[in-house]
Amino acid sequence: MVKIGLQLKATLENVASVQPDEDDFRWYLKLRCANCGDEPDHFQYACGLDTTPVRGGRGHANLVVKCKLCGRENTLDIVENSGRPLTESDIFQTVVAFDCRGLEPTDFSPRIGWACRGTDSDTPFANVDLSEKEWVEYDEKANQSVSPSPPRALFEEAEKGPKALSGPKIKGPIGRLKVCQLLQNT
Ligand SMILES: [Zn+2]
Repeated sequence: MVKIGLQLKATLENVASVQPDEDDFRWYLKLRCANCGDEPDHFQYACGLDTTPVRGGRGHANLVVKCKLCGRENTLDIVENSGRPLTESDIFQTVVAFDCRGLEPTDFSPRIGWACRGTDSDTPFANVDLSEKEWVEYDEKANQSVSPSPPRALFEEAEKGPKALSGPKIKGPIGRLKVCQLLQNT
């Protein structure tokens, strides 16, 4: 099992914080099979509310993926209490961690389902779309526009082993940084 942190970086214009709005938030990822290296070109999502049984009585996982090439069944779990809001503008911050068995994420698609809060007023905004174009709302209380930019993303291989599982916070990068497509293209 490998614990991988997803780091995001966005320009936060008059935005105090950005985070998934609800527990049913879907983390859209491209996934590479660690066994055979096959990397399907489509996004698959992991949701903290999904519990799919793993074959052979190996419990449940938030996402179970059977590799089409080698047939291996791989799993991904969202690490409990690993979620952190994005609070700094233009700085990479870890927003969630995944427990990966037999696969690794290679790309992230932010899409919809985010919430943010305005600076100064702390006004909450729901239904924030970070997919492509700039999302802008007007904060009446603070009298300014609120706009988080679509984020860049990278993956960080975090500390392995049971010790890391008990602590909610991801320690600094131990393995190599995995820069995903989103970052490479921008
Ligand atoms: Zn495979």
